[in-house]
Amino acid sequence: MKKIAIIGAGMAGITAARTLKQAGFHVSVFEKSLHSSGRMSALSSPLGSFDQGAQYFTVRDPRFLQALRDVPGTMDLIRAWSATAVRVLDARGQVLKASNPPQEPHFVAQPSMGALVEHWAQPLVLDHQLFFNTQVHSIQTDQNNPKLWQLRLENQVGSVQAGFDGVILAIPAPQAKRLMENSTSKVFDSGLLKSLNNVKMGPCWTLMAAFAQAPQLAYLGPQWNAAKSTSHRIAWLCRESSKPLRSHVERWTIQASTEWSEEHLEDDHERIQAKLLKAFAELTGIYAQPTQVNLKLWQYAKTLKPLGISHQWDSTLKIGTCGDWHLGHRVENAFLSGLSLALSLV
Ligand SMILES: Cc1cc2nc3c(=O)[nH]c(=O)nc-3n(C[C@H](O)[C@H](O)[C@H](O)COP(=O)(O)OP(=O)(O)OC[C@H]3O[C@@H](n4cnc5c(N)ncnc54)[C@H](O)[C@@H]3O)c2cc1C
Repeated sequence: MKKIAIIGAGMAGITAARTLKQAGFHVSVFEKSLHSSGRMSALSSPLGSFDQGAQYFTVRDPRFLQALRDVPGTMDLIRAWSATAVRVLDARGQVLKASNPPQEPHFVAQPSMGALVEHWAQPLVLDHQLFFNTQVHSIQTDQNNPKLWQLRLENQVGSVQAGFDGVILAIPAPQAKRLMENSTSKVFDSGLLKSLNNVKMGPCWTLMAAFAQAPQLAYLGPQWNAAKSTSHRIAWLCRESSKPLRSHVERWTIQASTEWSEEHLEDDHERIQAKLLKAFAELTGIYAQPTQVNLKLWQYAKTLKPLGISHQWDSTLKIGTCGDWHLGHRVENAFLSGLSLALSLV
């Protein structure tokens, strides 16, 4: 088996693609957005970048550490970030706990979190094996060879990519489920699809606010840079400008809790923005109006119930799945899932 299609260019898909490529497979990665990194992507703005998805990553598994050390250029991209002093706040902004044990180093990539996966994707980009702006609709039997697979692409009528021995879905479980449901009956009836019903992922409204006037103010906001909150509305808030080598313009990323995001999934943006800014002011004491605000809804932000195995591979169909949701909700989980699926094929 030599030609593998990988759907999704987040941490899991790129890790699987790199590993298979190094083992001599021919890989083609299809990504619906205009760049790699998925839920580790950043928002660029004239006032500085925001890590709109993952805020930082931790390293607990020696295989992740080894990859960070061994892939040339990676260590130059990574900096420790002092989020070890993360506070836990109540709904009124009172500090419940000074820090959140267990203490472990937190790392960020430079110039933004997306840089890590983008760097790892470079060999695939250079070899024209990564196709951006290409959303896969379904998996079908190859018209020219019934032993192979072809991918039908979304929004491109009649457009297919054909000739694959195997297919890897490196996308969030609900999206993998939809794609498999669109696919040929062999895929639709597979155990792979059934297993996805056991996974639960939740949304996250994310607000990003910049305060360009901050240098003129004598004092703006709290003396901490990152906090978890027990308030119903906000789960996490972080001063982006505290991350190493970032723009010094005062910038905050505010993540709503899963429960609140679920309750307000259909609300319009203005309403969400107003509610999150109000809660932010209550927690931080920053009542100034931001000079720039951006809002993003992650439909499938966080794994609430993982599958409990590192990856799936149906050796009869030659179709598999990987992604953070197999193991948990962290960047490292995505890496380990992509790695273990690829190594199982080598
Ligand atoms: C708001 C938020 C905060 C987070 N905070 C942290 C944190 O602080 N620390 C941490 O460790 N983790 C955090 N995470 C989780 C972390 O971002 C994920 O665990 C990790 O990025 C998942 O990687 P992945 O490759 O499994 O999936 P993804 O990153 O979701 O990659 C999937 C890719 O597939 C693409 N795709 C989907 N469907 C298709 C299709 N049909 N065709 C083509 N392409 C498709 C998507 O565009 C995406 O690029 C956070 C996530 C969010 C959303």
